[in-house]
Amino acid sequence: AKSKEDRHIYITFAQNHFESDIRQNTLEQDLSYAQKKNELEVYYQPKLNIQKNVYNFEALLRWNHPKFGMILPNEFIPIAERNQSITSIGRWVLKQVCKDFQAFQEINKNISIAVNISPVQLNDPRFVQQIKEAVLEYSIEPKAIELEITENDLLNLDSAQKQFEELSYEGFSIVLDDFGTSYSSLNYLKELSVQKIKIDKSFIMNMDYYQKDYQIVQMIIKLAKNLDLEVTAEGVEKWKHIEMLSKMDCTEIQGYYLSKPLPLQDMLEKLKDNTMNI
Ligand code: C2E
Ligand code: MG
Ligand code: MG
Ligand code: MG
Repeated sequence: AKSKEDRHIYITFAQNHFESDIRQNTLEQDLSYAQKKNELEVYYQPKLNIQKNVYNFEALLRWNHPKFGMILPNEFIPIAERNQSITSIGRWVLKQVCKDFQAFQEINKNISIAVNISPVQLNDPRFVQQIKEAVLEYSIEPKAIELEITENDLLNLDSAQKQFEELSYEGFSIVLDDFGTSYSSLNYLKELSVQKIKIDKSFIMNMDYYQKDYQIVQMIIKLAKNLDLEVTAEGVEKWKHIEMLSKMDCTEIQGYYLSKPLPLQDMLEKLKDNTMNI
């Protein structure tokens, strides 16, 4: 028979599950109105090339939910991918980024922007056309836009390959995001034409005291160099990480050490006042 404590644990477990199901369902319903109700907001986090001293800003989506407060993308993007609303959300992000781009450029002409693209968006054959039209409308050169694609099991090699080729041809820069976290990392790298890989933060954050992480990071950077690819490290939280990465010849860094993601106006001010940490 179950002890009283076991029963208590079980009930708490069941309750938590029940509550998280309710939250999920609520979020799924609310997500369809979030765009119309202006609840979505693009935050920006800098990536810095320490050699060239140029910034790229990654657009990171936030949902200001009227009841739950700010919701992070790791919770709602998977929902949007499941019910396909990622297509229209992604289009909205792209448009917003194009609008915001000008404000960055007014401060510094060399700035570029990175947008996260869900593998699900690539399944839409109109994707390339849409992105071309968006940059054209705002007179942005494709080379100022990086497209970060997360390597996960939603990524379909056949459709990605074709679209990546077209996008590269147009001049967009393609980044394999969260590199190292998927079972097929090396296969993606082999089959897809990308310009850059972004080492997942789970390898970077602890590399100063986990020898394994350090070795893996070193190996990925070497691999990138040998393949003539650019490489970024995300999750840089300490000065020590920057030191280690520079020694390994990784010149682009992103992480809380430099800045957390911020709303557009806050990020612009930080850039203008030159108060980024470095
Ligand atoms: P990502 O593209 O790999 O972005 C990096 C995530 O790591 C961001 O979380 C960022 O805030 C966080 N991060 C950056 N530096 C550090 C650090 O030093 N330490 C720690 N602990 N975390 C750091 P965020 O903003 O919550 O985004 C999570 C993921 O959601 C993104 O991962 C991206 O895959 C996805 N995402 C965000 N915006 C969009 C979007 O507009 N469209 C799509 N499809 N996905 C998005
Ligand atoms: Mg990213
Ligand atoms: Mg990433
Ligand atoms: Mg990541």
